[in-house]
Amino acid sequence: MMNGLMFQGFEWYIPDDGNYYKDLKKKLVDLKRIGVTSVWLPPVCKATGTNDTGYGIYDLYDLGEFDQKGSVRTKYGPREELLDLIHAIHEEGMHVYADVVLNHKAGADFEEEFEAVKVDRNDRTKDIEKPKKIKAWTGFNFPGRNGKYSEFTWNYNHFSGVDYDTLTGDTGIYRILGENKGWNWGVSHDNGNFDYLMFADIDHAHPDVKEELKRWIDWFIDELHLDGIRFDAVKHIDSAFLEELSNHIKERMGDEFYLLGEYWEHGIKNNTKFMKSTKFNMDLFDVGLHFSLYNASKDAENYDLRNLFEETITKENPPMSVTFVDNHDSEPGQSLESYVEPWFKEIAYGIILLRKDGYPCVFYGDYYGIGGEFMIEPHKDQIDILALIRKNHAYGEQDDYFKEKDLIGWVRNGNEDHPGKCAVVISTMEKKYISMFMGENQSGRIFRDFTGNCEDQVTVNEEGYGDFPAEAGSISVWLENEIDLG
Ligand code: CA
Repeated sequence: MMNGLMFQGFEWYIPDDGNYYKDLKKKLVDLKRIGVTSVWLPPVCKATGTNDTGYGIYDLYDLGEFDQKGSVRTKYGPREELLDLIHAIHEEGMHVYADVVLNHKAGADFEEEFEAVKVDRNDRTKDIEKPKKIKAWTGFNFPGRNGKYSEFTWNYNHFSGVDYDTLTGDTGIYRILGENKGWNWGVSHDNGNFDYLMFADIDHAHPDVKEELKRWIDWFIDELHLDGIRFDAVKHIDSAFLEELSNHIKERMGDEFYLLGEYWEHGIKNNTKFMKSTKFNMDLFDVGLHFSLYNASKDAENYDLRNLFEETITKENPPMSVTFVDNHDSEPGQSLESYVEPWFKEIAYGIILLRKDGYPCVFYGDYYGIGGEFMIEPHKDQIDILALIRKNHAYGEQDDYFKEKDLIGWVRNGNEDHPGKCAVVISTMEKKYISMFMGENQSGRIFRDFTGNCEDQVTVNEEGYGDFPAEAGSISVWLENEIDLG
């Protein structure tokens, strides 16, 4: 079986020109060539405006079809072009994952008055005022869609909190009061209770909400012929609801249907708790590994590479781990900015693409560059080489040589379909060598570094060992000399 490779098909600063679907379609040839097996699309539902990336979601049923929020199209384009792109991705034999934002809704159609209580921003279990009447944007009736696909309309009963009272102009966090109302508790306990993130926070304990979202997701999966879903901000969504929803999807679509969650937290403890509570239905991004890569790129000489995988999902629960270097939230100027330094990008991609564990995800911004005011150069050439090696030459068991603080390496031993050996060395401070065992049957074979970072050649000795180097601050990937990467 071919190694899986996900591509995050967008970054934050993609231009708001409505041409995104057409542009990405032209890029599929690049992705197919390097062995991408699935494409993660941005949130495709109508958001607060065309300048919204889609996370400020307004109408789940508007995929760029109705004149709402100032346009028919979304930031990315009209519905027909989305369907056309998805068809093209499938034609190339790749899977399509959609980005689903269920934590909140934004850009309501009208205001409502209701009882609420202001809570302490840093401890949302603490009320800091007496309950009072507030007025907030919680009414959604989607006049532009006029009941097509769903008659469901939203009001304050379907939400658990808001962060703006238009009566007073106050921007505190308010918990909505009423029968059976309160924060959902199957969420992160950061800040006491992390149910609330932004906009009008959906109450996932409300029976009508649960039914409507299940009905919507069936419609959405069928409408777009999806192969998987990436759930946004699951740290803030009741895990009891996500368990119910994920069971519902798996029952209808089968176990092959891919589910992935974004649980943004370094440590392993709460990630594991979340995976358990959603019955291991949902893989998670390995945020811990992202921070290891980020810290290694920042701390250079002080970082101990042997600790890269400590407290990571990749180490603790490898089949559930989606590894990534950066994403649309960690890129410069964004809410979770923690952008891996350019000198370390190639190394970081070597780490996620060439090791046995983890389902890696290449970020659009790293591959094609980042636009807007930041204008960050792409690493396409480097990633192309590493991804092609992943596609054809990084298979089988793995022997680790995590030798020194600034020097690690590993060997992939190949398998029946891909019998070749692949040796990787990373050295952060100076040129160093690791003697690694390639097998006695490899004696006399000559290896070279396909990244081009090191010009040496290595001949495997009679005992089956090779002395593989990496230059200062770089990665070297050693394959047999005559291999053509294609
Ligand atoms: Ca929430």
